[in-house]
Amino acid sequence: MNMADSERLAAMLEGRGLKRAENIRDADYIVINTCMVRQSAENRIYGLVNNLGRQRAAMKKPQKIVLTGCLVGVALGDRTGKMLKLFKKRMPAVDEFLPIQEVGFDYVPKRSHRRHAWVPISNGCNNFCSYCVVPYARGREISRPFADIFRECRILKKQGYQEVTLLGQNVNSYGNDLMKDPKFQAPNSKQIQDTNDQDPKHKESCKHLNLDCLELVGNYDLGFEISHVFTLFPYLLKAVAELGFERVNFISSNPWDFSEELIEVIAGNANISRQIHLPVQSGDNQILKRMNRPYTREEYVKLIERIRQRIPGVCFSTDIIVGFPGETEQAFQNTVNLCQQVGFKKAYIAMYSPRPLTAASRLYKDDVPHLEKRRRWRVLEQLINRK
Ligand code: SF4
Repeated sequence: MNMADSERLAAMLEGRGLKRAENIRDADYIVINTCMVRQSAENRIYGLVNNLGRQRAAMKKPQKIVLTGCLVGVALGDRTGKMLKLFKKRMPAVDEFLPIQEVGFDYVPKRSHRRHAWVPISNGCNNFCSYCVVPYARGREISRPFADIFRECRILKKQGYQEVTLLGQNVNSYGNDLMKDPKFQAPNSKQIQDTNDQDPKHKESCKHLNLDCLELVGNYDLGFEISHVFTLFPYLLKAVAELGFERVNFISSNPWDFSEELIEVIAGNANISRQIHLPVQSGDNQILKRMNRPYTREEYVKLIERIRQRIPGVCFSTDIIVGFPGETEQAFQNTVNLCQQVGFKKAYIAMYSPRPLTAASRLYKDDVPHLEKRRRWRVLEQLINRK
């Protein structure tokens, strides 16, 4: 998502008459698109900005340092103002905090590849997984209009792009907000909404939510429904696949929005990628509950089986967090066991670090020692990525 944002940001800056500098020392204007997903990513921002500040002072050059991306979202989204104050103190060299939302979708992105294009379809997230800073950094989920995305993809096809990746923090909940708009009209939208309200799966998946976490989101206006089940994503994916790209990918999807319709659309369109990224995060039900992930390991495995039955040749990649607060050796072994059961092709494994404003950082003590997190990380890395 940050790469796609950077492509639009570059287009916006060029639209204002700026040109790409040969190197960072020559630049008059340095824009840093930040990520805050882990403490290590946040630390790299501090290191980079403070080095640039020292370099600027040594060169005596009137460079402007601008931060954008998730760190700015957290800084400006915190209504108490404490986060902005903290970041300013840690990075006195920053001249401007630019909210990424200001970049918008009016500029044609400066694409970094000739064959493949990133296409954001939504921004933000309503899920509030207890460890995750994204809902604070990017705000509530907002879907781009269906017609805009379709038009962008059609132009990409005409320009000769062979592959597109549809992007969203929870890509398969796409359109949930659009369907709630009383002016929204799409075939079957009324039926979809009605079914959503009555659907037993919807109620079933809400059952797993950790309500303690939701009470803690404090300064944030929730105003959302957690489980969508029926969304517009299958229709969008089908429409894009039928444009005739060699490959259509989508990231990141979540288990609770992986509907039967979506499985059918993938099964029926051979150019939709057969590698599905489906974050599991943990294979232990107690930890999943603490993470505020609305499914159990059994439901996750059942979903994998359903997809495998319907889509021959499909394989799975995932995201896993090790060392989440309260993760005992047994809980970790449950994750190991789930990974063996599913046979992931690839996993992005992260060691837990508390993120500001999140429910987990306030509710739970970061009680797994760093060395133990590293050991668990190595076990899974060896099992999945180095086999
Ligand atoms: S679904 Fe959960 S992990 Fe993914 S962006 Fe939303 S809150 Fe974060």
